[in-house]
Amino acid sequence: MRVDYNAVAENWRFFKKRAPNAAVAAVVKADAYGLGAVAASRALAQAGARAFFTATSGEALRVRKALGEGPQIFVLNGPSEKDLAHYADAKLTPILNSIAQIKIWDARGPAGLHIDTGMNRLGLGPEELTQSMVALKGASLALVMSHLACGSDLKHEMNATQLKRFIDAASLFPQAPLSLSATAGALIGPDYHFDLIRPGVGLYGSGGLDADNPQLIPAALIEAPILQVRDVEPGESFGYGGTFTAAQKMRTATVALGYADGYLRSLSGRGYGVLGGVKRPILGRVSMDLIILDVTGCAEAQPGAMVEFLGPNAPLDDIAALAGTASYEILTTFAGTVRKTGART
Ligand SMILES: *Cc1c(COP(=O)(O)O)cnc(C)c1O
Repeated sequence: MRVDYNAVAENWRFFKKRAPNAAVAAVVKADAYGLGAVAASRALAQAGARAFFTATSGEALRVRKALGEGPQIFVLNGPSEKDLAHYADAKLTPILNSIAQIKIWDARGPAGLHIDTGMNRLGLGPEELTQSMVALKGASLALVMSHLACGSDLKHEMNATQLKRFIDAASLFPQAPLSLSATAGALIGPDYHFDLIRPGVGLYGSGGLDADNPQLIPAALIEAPILQVRDVEPGESFGYGGTFTAAQKMRTATVALGYADGYLRSLSGRGYGVLGGVKRPILGRVSMDLIILDVTGCAEAQPGAMVEFLGPNAPLDDIAALAGTASYEILTTFAGTVRKTGART
């Protein structure tokens, strides 16, 4: 895998142009969606990002080490008794998601407050807001935020419902900067921008929408080498279970890529690799370390030739759709796993 961190920075600028009056944070949780949180955070800080979001305090420590003092690093999952020291050591800003977390934090410093406006995942319910103000004991609020459940469908009525609930709830905290939108919400329009937007997947090349994604630059390129090329006769079948049978003479290529690299088995018989500018369908099942492609009539198909499985010619949203999943999962499982295992030789 090669990651184009300039593309990550360029995608960040796309959001800056979309939301010129808001701060544009960078969500780098899950190792920057598998692309590498250290390098991605550095590129994003250089582009101008001043606020970063991770899921856990452990992730935030790595980002703090990479960026040094200065940028604000929010931890979305919030503090527990066990990791309070991380917050002090690395000057992290917790997002407080419950009365219990407000009490654990105990006004140690600035914090963000997460209000639930309909997702019912994390955050304080509307009935807890008065109680939360008391529990905060005057701690300064660096952010009041919520999160959209259905932002990936720009026209979904839930968006307007959550927007209204957010405005109502946030009026109780008139001093605090406000944030509602991740990638998709930021694309709905300026009403959803408030003081800060929180794009994640958009920085890495997908608009996070169910349809009509904006043109963002693919940041991850994943290629794997051909190990062997074979000429096969009609009637031969391929791989575990022999789930594909050749109807005529074919040339096939066995490629060093499989589900151990995070290439989802659900792409069996559905995915493709790109060689010589053409999509080469996967024949039969994806195995642990290998995949078989139809390369009939392809002069470039030789042992050692590199085949693209994610990148400009094998777009993230396309691969996600074929795998029956979201671009997020392709990034964290495929890019994230390939990155951890390295080029397995
Ligand atoms: C993951 C996450 C984001 C970023 O979401 P994207 O859809 O990747 O842009 C923003 N806010 C919260 C609360 C999140 O959990």
